[in-house]
Amino acid sequence: MTKFDPATAIQRLDGQDATRGVNPSINDSATFCFPEAHLMTETFHGETEGFFLYSRHWNPTNLCLCKALAAMEGTEMAWVTGSGLAAITTALLHEVKTGDHILSSMTTYGGTFAFMKNWLTKFGVETSFVNFQDLDAVKKAIRPNTKVLYTETMNNPLLRIANIPELAKMAHANGAKLIVDNTFTPMIFSPCRLGADVTVYSMTKFVNGKNDCVAGAICGSAEYINSLIDVNNGTAMLLGPVLDPMRSSSILKNLHTLHIRMQQHGRNAMYLAQRFKEVGFKYNYPGLPEHVDYELTKSMMNEGYGFGGMISIDMGTAEKASRIMEIMQKKGVGYLAVSLGYFKTLFSNSGKSTSSEVPEEIQKEMGMSEGLIRFSVGLDNDIEATFQLIKESVDECGL
Ligand SMILES: *Cc1c(COP(=O)(O)O)cnc(C)c1O
Repeated sequence: MTKFDPATAIQRLDGQDATRGVNPSINDSATFCFPEAHLMTETFHGETEGFFLYSRHWNPTNLCLCKALAAMEGTEMAWVTGSGLAAITTALLHEVKTGDHILSSMTTYGGTFAFMKNWLTKFGVETSFVNFQDLDAVKKAIRPNTKVLYTETMNNPLLRIANIPELAKMAHANGAKLIVDNTFTPMIFSPCRLGADVTVYSMTKFVNGKNDCVAGAICGSAEYINSLIDVNNGTAMLLGPVLDPMRSSSILKNLHTLHIRMQQHGRNAMYLAQRFKEVGFKYNYPGLPEHVDYELTKSMMNEGYGFGGMISIDMGTAEKASRIMEIMQKKGVGYLAVSLGYFKTLFSNSGKSTSSEVPEEIQKEMGMSEGLIRFSVGLDNDIEATFQLIKESVDECGL
């Protein structure tokens, strides 16, 4: 694969509009007028360039953000939604009908898991959850009616990495699509360039990075995005999960600093991983050669963005994990909160929070310990001092 640089792809876009503001003007119109009636008809049929119909379909400010996201992913187009889960559910619903089958990694985000396991079954769409690290198991679980293979590039909370090129081959051999949630690793991985058909994001996390909104994105071919917003059959057009353009405008500005943030999150997480290793904590970080997916990670990643800001440590019991998190919060390491990709460090006990929708047996099967603390490492300027506070918190825990 040729070298790809998502940050430069965004940087090279000309974001100016007719007013010459360095940031594109915010267009908060719900509807748009047409100089001639036939243009409206043609836009309804999806046949006109440069005309906007209605903001549930397309909006000029959303389009600016979408072009930047598409540049980042190396896809033709993108479309933005009011939350990450809206992006995921829209992308999934667009591919399936009653009687179809989805094959999903057993380690997805809890909300995604609950949607496939509890909600989609009401409409006769069945999902099997398998260990996506075991490619033979994936192959065996594919059925003639499998329409989607679904995975996260870096999974939660064990930080295993999915083999996107191999999964794409398997999906395509069956006429299915590979949909990948790249929320944990924007810029580090470009799933569509590795063979995935669709990449989805919760922009709530790293992409926006400010924890001041929820938002999502769907990236793919122009034909695919057009089919999502088709007025007769498009899942996005008909379910209406579109992102507000005011929010698009602020996310676009934050997207332009994403590469700097990813580099710093990654440097800090790498530092913590090395120190955790030295002091003998049981840690998980795909940036060190000890991680089972280190070589796979290296083979798929774009250079220069590090290995991501997510790291987990296993403290054995949920009780101990809780106690340590409380002490860490008091000492100012960061916040005991779900979510990730924020400028401050956030930590939570995965089994009792973001993966609590995943039944305990499956948590065990995934290899998730009940004492696992997941960190989203912040942009700390003095990460050595942060490490010392974490170490003191563990030492003071007394359990
Ligand atoms: C947070 C998250 C989601 C859901 O996104 P929202 O913006 O909260 O709707 C989906 N996938 C992953 C990996 C996430 O971390």
